[in-house]
Amino acid sequence: MKLLIDVHAHLDNEKFSHDLNEVIERAKNTGIKHIICNGLDPVSNRSILKLAEKYPEIKLALGIYPIECLKFSDDEIDAEIDYIRKHKNSIVGIGEVGIDYHWDKTTEGHEKQKKAFLKFILLAKELDVPLIVHSRDAEADTVEILELQGCKKVVMHWFQELRKIDGTCQSRQMLLCLAISRKLSKV
Ligand SMILES: [Zn+2]
Repeated sequence: MKLLIDVHAHLDNEKFSHDLNEVIERAKNTGIKHIICNGLDPVSNRSILKLAEKYPEIKLALGIYPIECLKFSDDEIDAEIDYIRKHKNSIVGIGEVGIDYHWDKTTEGHEKQKKAFLKFILLAKELDVPLIVHSRDAEADTVEILELQGCKKVVMHWFQELRKIDGTCQSRQMLLCLAISRKLSKV
């Protein structure tokens, strides 16, 4: 039987609240052994930690979605990073993190997103786990930051312009996640 791992899911989404058992059962029946749920914010991180206690198929990446970072102070982001650090034995990655200039057009917001992204990169390096990266309309800055930080364990989960990141990803053996349904969802 083939062995598959779904590297990016949000099974804490309310859409799954009524039939999560069936969703996971269907995934298992298609050969998916593990589903990596990504956290979007502190609430989501705590929700998926609970899901992982119930479903052994669920593995975790904890983080804060780039646009969600704009809602939190530096201290609140640092507190969440401490929370993730305390749960390091429960995670397989840091995600969903990154930079998104599509939903945020402000210079101030871009700087805040980049600052938060850097913190999560340093956390991933400290814990020696992969990053699961969302980059929308921000490929050049994303690649520059990942390059400067020497990141190697990276799954590029969302990106708009393959040609801007392909060379870097290939040279660093990053994984490109080609989402065929990406126009249907903003996360
Ligand atoms: Zn996502």
